[in-house]
Amino acid sequence: MSDFLHLVCPHCHTTNRVRGTDLARAPDCGSCHKPLFVAHSLALDESNFERHISRNQIPVLVDFWAPWCGPCRQMAPAFEQAAAQLEPRVRLVKVDTEASPQLGARFNIRSIPTLALFSNGREVARQPGAMGAADIVRWTQQQARFS
Ligand code: ZN
Repeated sequence: MSDFLHLVCPHCHTTNRVRGTDLARAPDCGSCHKPLFVAHSLALDESNFERHISRNQIPVLVDFWAPWCGPCRQMAPAFEQAAAQLEPRVRLVKVDTEASPQLGARFNIRSIPTLALFSNGREVARQPGAMGAADIVRWTQQQARFS
């Protein structure tokens, strides 16, 4: 791994260059000065999804969901708990497939909720169906193969 990682700010969407060893020290965005990690997932839409998927040099875990989906809403607190545990090694984001239907179509999301893990702009794994926080964390760690 190189010394520096590119991290997209969840607030202003600027790409930051952060020393890998500083990841655990709650780094701030160089542009808007807000924390790069807030222990919560980030809602993305068609205007900013691509930037986060392609420019983040940490894995990005996407929850494809919709407001009308009961299991999705039930899983939402578990996804937030998983965000608190997986950050700063993984960025957790949510895509409302009703508000952003093009993203659901582009990634051929057939059922929701569906979790998809992206690494360096590519989807590396996906898992349909609701999961608890511990299972989300375990699945992500297995797929991302980090220690
Ligand atoms: Zn920022």
